[in-house]
Amino acid sequence: MPFRTPKLVVALLLSLLAAPVSALQLEASVKPLQLVAAALLEGISEPGLLVPPEASPHHYALKPSDMRDLARADLVVWVGPELELFLVKPLQQTDARLLQLMDGDPGASMAAEDHHEHEGGHHHEVDTHLWMDPVLMLEAAQQMRDALTEIAPEQGPALNANFERFAAALMAKDRELRQRLSPLADRGFFVFHDAYGRFVSHYGLRQLGYFTVDPGRQPGARHLSEIRGQLQEKAAVCVFSEPQFRSAVVDAVTEGTGVRHGELDPLARNITPGPDAYLQYLDALAGEFERCLKP
Ligand SMILES: [Zn+2]
Repeated sequence: MPFRTPKLVVALLLSLLAAPVSALQLEASVKPLQLVAAALLEGISEPGLLVPPEASPHHYALKPSDMRDLARADLVVWVGPELELFLVKPLQQTDARLLQLMDGDPGASMAAEDHHEHEGGHHHEVDTHLWMDPVLMLEAAQQMRDALTEIAPEQGPALNANFERFAAALMAKDRELRQRLSPLADRGFFVFHDAYGRFVSHYGLRQLGYFTVDPGRQPGARHLSEIRGQLQEKAAVCVFSEPQFRSAVVDAVTEGTGVRHGELDPLARNITPGPDAYLQYLDALAGEFERCLKP
């Protein structure tokens, strides 16, 4: 359907044809948010995705096909202008309902909740990688459920049942991961891109620093030599890079230090959307931390 057809007409046509009604179309900006949505929409519809996981939400431009998906969407879920700046203008042109998970004022944002103590070190801007925190994603799922229920009240019971199932499974997974990761609390590591802070603080891991805040920008020479100094002092046991940025700089800095290499995927490229996909994603992150940090 290249053109936007009035919804009433669509509904009439579909009921005449007795075709399956694809009532609820959700578009997520980044894949981990799509995975949360897939749990909520299980048996109802399949959520779409705007930024492919091999791209970066820090630097992305929408394609014409993305604009069509936005025009068709009932609900668009995104973090906010601090992360997906490229969405600000396109979202002004869609009738879709918008769910912005982080609002401009950090004081009023769900991202600024007090269950996150900043552990010494970097106090720059607010960390926009909200999906690294299972508690924030539970809240996001609740907000998605409420917004979708207002759009399609007839799906309310199904959405709520899916939410309850997701919430229980997520809390169980969270407890499991906490147990698995707690023995690693004193194992220092560096990450390539500063995307994991919320996971790290939620599970009490010991991140010593990162190479870059913006994965599209190369870290400075002085910063690199500081990291190299810490690696030579054996402060860290592992350096994590990521598949989106296979960085020569990480290889150069770690060369000869004997530090292990890990790879964390912030955008869940190997995870297939489905009811348990977000749990699998958390599990995969935890598994890689375990593999690289274990004594
Ligand atoms: Zn990032």
